Amino acid sequence: MEELIELTSKLIQFPSLNPKIDEESMVNTANFIKDWLSDKGIEARIKEYSSGWPTVIAEVGKGKRSVLLNGHFDVVPTGEIKSWKINPFSGKIIDGRIYGRGASDMKSGVAVNMMLLKELADRLDYKLIFTAVSDEETGGFNCSKFLAQDYKPDLVLISEPSGSDSLILGEKGLLQVRLVSKGRAAHGSIPSAGVNAIELLIKDLMNLSKISNLEISLPKDSEILVDNTLRRMQLELGKYIKELRTISFNIGTIKGGVKVNVVADKCEAEVDMRIPFGITYKEAFEKVKSLVENSEIEIIQSSNPNYTSPYNEHAKKLKSIIEKNIKKEVREMLITGATDGRYFREHNIPVLVYGPGKLGQAHVYDEHVEIQDLINCYNSLKEFLVSF
Ligand SMILES: [Zn+2]
Repeated sequence: MEELIELTSKLIQFPSLNPKIDEESMVNTANFIKDWLSDKGIEARIKEYSSGWPTVIAEVGKGKRSVLLNGHFDVVPTGEIKSWKINPFSGKIIDGRIYGRGASDMKSGVAVNMMLLKELADRLDYKLIFTAVSDEETGGFNCSKFLAQDYKPDLVLISEPSGSDSLILGEKGLLQVRLVSKGRAAHGSIPSAGVNAIELLIKDLMNLSKISNLEISLPKDSEILVDNTLRRMQLELGKYIKELRTISFNIGTIKGGVKVNVVADKCEAEVDMRIPFGITYKEAFEKVKSLVENSEIEIIQSSNPNYTSPYNEHAKKLKSIIEKNIKKEVREMLITGATDGRYFREHNIPVLVYGPGKLGQAHVYDEHVEIQDLINCYNSLKEFLVSF
């Protein structure tokens, strides 16, 4: 296990920030992964589906069936360096934890995948495809989106930080829109001579907020994901999070008006809505259009909610292996954000998200991963893959 720990620490030392600090930071990390695999006798290559965004790909084993391992080696910015007690690119090991940006999200997961490939290279009767991508944190449009078109594996395993006792099987969809209202300028002392764009937009936003009251019936096999996640969030946040069953509504930005004594002739707002299982983003967008009267609407970003059934044979098997190994009940969960898993689920490929670290550790100061978690995760995934 020393090798796994050292490898995680080594990966953290590459400042593969996304947005990029320079072109080399990402390429250097990709080269390191490729060379490490090559040193172990595994043929690996770097593919740039889009220029400047490397994906490392390697394949071991032979057979008709295949499993694709996916992970990302880009990391989010460090934020205020002064707020870190431990250098974010040190990969320091203290008291059973490895520290640094990406420790949880998700260089530990990439290290697990690399070790799995090395350990299992000669003993599989199916193909194990390793993929490490460089743009998950900005949407996966340059790497995993293309991988999902090139590969049709029987199963995808993503080692994003799930927490050792959770198996993430689904994620909400996304509908982000920009509303723009146009009015007519006039002197602020005689507003009735003009039309106030800010007021128009406020009316639309108030009306649009009702979208979160829409009752949506969840597909039967997704209920357990929602219930487990609700229970977990209630424990962690101390309150009931109704947004798991409904379309969430958040006004992220609002801009309008030029001066206090001028009737505003333009106003614009950006709204973030997350789409639950049981409705597509297109259906949600139709609803948006019916609730907005005065403003033009433009989609900024969209994706459909997606999940793999908890009754899927691979999901059930991985769950039982993890439970046996950690001697604790494993819960199938969903996340409110997104992973690259959605690209594969679009092609009806089952995707299981299980990896070391905690979701709560992603993107925070003094990010770390518990070494025990790293080892547990590696052991369970290895056992699962050996028996696949
Ligand atoms: Zn991640």
